[in-house]
Amino acid sequence: MANLAHLEQTIAGPLEFSGVGLHSGAPVTMRMLPAPAGSGIVFRRTDLDNFEIPANGRNVAKVSYATSLMRQGVLIQTTEHLLSALIGMGVDNVIIEVDNLELPILDGSALPYVQAFLNVGIRTQRRRRETIRVLKPVEVREGKKFIGVYPGSGYSIQYTIEFPAPIGRQSACVDLATESYGEFISPARTFGYKADEKKLRDMGLIRGACAENAIILGAKGPENGPLRFDDEYVRHKVLDLIGDLALAGRRIEGHVVAERAGHAMHTALVSRLMKDRSAWELANVPVPEAQIEGPEAAELTDSDLSGAALQGA
Ligand SMILES: [Zn+2]
Repeated sequence: MANLAHLEQTIAGPLEFSGVGLHSGAPVTMRMLPAPAGSGIVFRRTDLDNFEIPANGRNVAKVSYATSLMRQGVLIQTTEHLLSALIGMGVDNVIIEVDNLELPILDGSALPYVQAFLNVGIRTQRRRRETIRVLKPVEVREGKKFIGVYPGSGYSIQYTIEFPAPIGRQSACVDLATESYGEFISPARTFGYKADEKKLRDMGLIRGACAENAIILGAKGPENGPLRFDDEYVRHKVLDLIGDLALAGRRIEGHVVAERAGHAMHTALVSRLMKDRSAWELANVPVPEAQIEGPEAAELTDSDLSGAALQGA
């Protein structure tokens, strides 16, 4: 997906996944359903009377090893990989039904989602897509951790990580306008150190982790190799970042720089950005020139597209 589509999109049909939650180990079945234009990404707990939790920064709950949403005490855990795939593949509107508290970890990456979207198809809707266009720098610093977002066209991310051996320091620069999310980012899997396993399990985390859904790092390297990319670790952090910044409610139009950041820093940036109304504006994605004279452009004027009457079209 090189150029960002100028109209909103949803999936063309329902999708179903099942698996276990990475942290809870809880079995979960998830169904994704097409949703009307303008409705955004909404989670629904089918085990709790279809209680709905919209994917936005106001509902961020706790963030340490994964990002969780909470509304009125109802939780959805580990949202980042699915939200990343939705933003990366340009799916604006979808209902995500889950029958437990955590999304399935699948293979630890966002690739199964990308493949499913491509299989079922992505459907264009009759509403102009908006981005969050960054107008001035917004930064969050905490010791050696840093994240900032800056004005810029498209959506580009520069990420640097520094982890103990065997990962060390890795950097990646990704421009989603020119590089394919599906090809370069979505296959990158989550990872963890074998040495941290007991500590994390004692904290009630990674109960669903296994060699099929995470890269497990020993002292010398991955124990369940081979890697999908030499720099799979930093690519996975880019994947997580895209998923966490999705909580701004729309795709970012700007340049993001992150150093040694993580879910807490990513979501802190979202709240700081959302609070500073002078730092961003909602901007329509431009209509590609080739389409300006086409029948679609004649059909879709801005006044057509602003009204609620078209929702569901
Ligand atoms: Zn992740």
